[in-house]
Amino acid sequence: MKRIAILGATGSIGKSTLDLVEASPDDYRVTALTAATDVDGLAAAARRTRAGLAVIADERRLDDLRSALAGTSTRVAAGRAALSEAAVADADWVMAAIVGCAGLEPVMAAVDAGLSVALANKEALVTAGTLMTRAAERSDATILPVDSEHNAIFQCLAGQNQDAVARLVLTSSGGPFRTWTAERMAGASPEQAVAHPNWSMGAKISVDSATMMNKGLELIEAHHLFAMPSAQIDILVHPQSVIHSLVEFTDGSMLAQLGSPDMRIPIAHTLAWPQRMQTRAQRLDLAAVAQLSFESPDPVRFPALRLARAALEGGGAAPIVLNAANEIAVAAFLDRRLPFGRIAALVEDALDRSTATAPTSIGDVLEIDRTTRRAADALLPAMAA
Ligand code: NAD
Ligand code: MG
Repeated sequence: MKRIAILGATGSIGKSTLDLVEASPDDYRVTALTAATDVDGLAAAARRTRAGLAVIADERRLDDLRSALAGTSTRVAAGRAALSEAAVADADWVMAAIVGCAGLEPVMAAVDAGLSVALANKEALVTAGTLMTRAAERSDATILPVDSEHNAIFQCLAGQNQDAVARLVLTSSGGPFRTWTAERMAGASPEQAVAHPNWSMGAKISVDSATMMNKGLELIEAHHLFAMPSAQIDILVHPQSVIHSLVEFTDGSMLAQLGSPDMRIPIAHTLAWPQRMQTRAQRLDLAAVAQLSFESPDPVRFPALRLARAALEGGGAAPIVLNAANEIAVAAFLDRRLPFGRIAALVEDALDRSTATAPTSIGDVLEIDRTTRRAADALLPAMAA
């Protein structure tokens, strides 16, 4: 029986993880569940799974959570430190599915404790990549990629000689605006941006897919997960989202992983790893799909790709600044305080103005994150005008 903790249990990835875990109650025991503010969703999941601990990030909601779980054996807690406690309390496998840099400390707690960390929270790796991979080597933690592209590459690399890898190819659906003109995109609404053609996801990653910043973050994520330089990681637009990514080897062979666009498939891979488990995910019917198509991403309409690649290659604090400014820009766009067409501009401005130097600790990463958020917030009014 695996003892599992789910950080971000009320979100899209968290719910998909619960769906798999609850279908196999004999194989998994839930040690802890966390959420930001959704007391009802958290308490319901904790009751169904008889979770050992339920943590709400918002301390003002602790009393509500306590009442909602009265009469159960689930312990309750609140606040940032409690999120990290949830990551390590009694678990051997942790789903890291908090969105944004807010998930970094609990992810690091799980990594430092040497656990198996199923990583969906790409922003944590983007901001603290080198520190996190080094910590994992020290503690012998296993980082299992949940992001469908990275999970695909992880599967393609199994049993292969790392020296024989020539290139990683990250596929992208192209997002909801793949065929839109720049003029039309500039004024896109939050509703249009979160209406993803193939995947149903949280609001932040949906907007990132629309700007293609998601693929930029994934480029940095792939660099850290697979120790590949930027020059050997390519991005390929593939609108059907059937091939989840590819690996090219030195002999010219390419391996790909395919499946329905259902996050339960990569999550199941990390849950059962190194075994496999049954899922209720839709089987891929290639005859029904009929055609797979590919195109190069458009660097003019999707400047986020260029910014992310430059941040990766520039190194130092740049990926942290890129991520923090993007989090502020996306939140402002969802709040209708920033036009869609200015998201990348705000990120670029924050990168240009930043004087931050390379972090040497997680404390440094969090400080650069905070400073950039303040700076990006201050840039908002001028950007939105
Ligand atoms: P979501 O918005 O649906 O859920 C986010 C979860 O994190 C919720 O449980 C929320 O309560 C919690 N949370 C949010 N802010 C928090 C904070 N400040 N402190 C503590 N908890 C907080 O997001 P999602 O779509 O499930 O994505 C989660 C992560 O997985 C993101 O990093 C995303 O990029 C990544 N991811 C998601 C998908 C997908 O299909 N949804 C695919 C690949 C990767
Ligand atoms: Mg992805």
